[in-house]
Amino acid sequence: MNKVYVVKCSDYKQVDEKMDMLLSMMGGMGQFAKAGEKIVLKPNLLVPKKPEKAVTTHPAVVAAVGRLTKSVGASPIIVDSPGSAFPYNKKTLDKVYSTCGMSEVADESGIEVNLDTTWQTVSFPEGNLIKRFEVITPVIQADGVFNLCKLKTHGFMSMTGAVKNSLGVIPGIKKTGYHAKLQDVRNFTSMCLDLSEYVSPRISIMDAVIGMEGNGPQHGAPRHIGLLLASRSPLALDIVAGEIMGLDRKNNPLLIEAEKCGLYPNHFEQVEVIGVDKSDLCIPDFKLPATLNAGASSFALSVLIPLFKNWITVRPEIMKNKCTACGICRDACPVKVISVDNNFAQINKKKCIRCYCCHEMCPEDAIELHSSFLYRMVNRK
Ligand code: SF4
Ligand code: SF4
Repeated sequence: MNKVYVVKCSDYKQVDEKMDMLLSMMGGMGQFAKAGEKIVLKPNLLVPKKPEKAVTTHPAVVAAVGRLTKSVGASPIIVDSPGSAFPYNKKTLDKVYSTCGMSEVADESGIEVNLDTTWQTVSFPEGNLIKRFEVITPVIQADGVFNLCKLKTHGFMSMTGAVKNSLGVIPGIKKTGYHAKLQDVRNFTSMCLDLSEYVSPRISIMDAVIGMEGNGPQHGAPRHIGLLLASRSPLALDIVAGEIMGLDRKNNPLLIEAEKCGLYPNHFEQVEVIGVDKSDLCIPDFKLPATLNAGASSFALSVLIPLFKNWITVRPEIMKNKCTACGICRDACPVKVISVDNNFAQINKKKCIRCYCCHEMCPEDAIELHSSFLYRMVNRK
């Protein structure tokens, strides 16, 4: 379970060939799917964005996995519920599928796309923190799930990859309820780890051909990485992804929570990397999100920041010149502190919990992340 397989893949034209190599290294698709099974392909379809923006899993990756799934006689179906601002309905799904290139993949490769927008409450007594989830029906009904995630930075959780991709099984705006209840990043991360355990993908495959750096998961910059990665363990895969980004262990809530929950592996030394040299993975100049306390000392992280979190912080700011008053940020805000008049959105800063869902969802990149003076002081390198 702690093995992560890696192949070099310099562009999306090579994905078919490289995906074959990757799956062969893991024993072939027959290890993960059997004839007659219904397999959910779960890409990251956060928002309707073109594949070249590197926000969503590239359609070439979904097509290649779909082809291999069909080759063993199983039936793949593309399934995801996009970000928290979007109602989980057919209109949302149609828009996301067509913009993100999934409709084309479905037509060309004969892969089904999900249009069932029902969901059910499931119990998960094994959860460390959360023991019940609302989950979309096709995931519950499938024989197995393939987690087709994207390597990206994330304003709230520092990174998003395999574990966080499980959040897309929660229907539409129901996701905001989890942010509202679990305002601390560590609790939210712990919930994602529980959800990932519930989904229990048979395989997680990461699109890191072109990932995202900076202020992801929507408004960072595409970054060429040139890798495809796969693992039976979403957590092991994310540990390697964090290493590629150069994300310090003390700043990665996923690793901190995994260790606290007793999950294995919970750090890089415990992961076996197959296919490339482990020491070559880190990209030294990879840009991390502005919200990360990248330069803070251990004392600042453990004492100062928790004590003075309202002052040592990064706040979302609306750029009035870019805002179109579309209301998406208002719908995404889990604590409902954004109002929108005819001209632009406004944030009630005193009540903002700094989850950055508004920044994540704004289609116009009209929300900037501004660090306070004290934040800049404690993060001075
Ligand atoms: S800030 Fe962005 S999401 Fe919010 S209303 Fe303006 S354009 Fe829409
Ligand atoms: S306004 Fe604050 S609480 Fe609301 S979505 Fe944005 S960061 Fe989160």
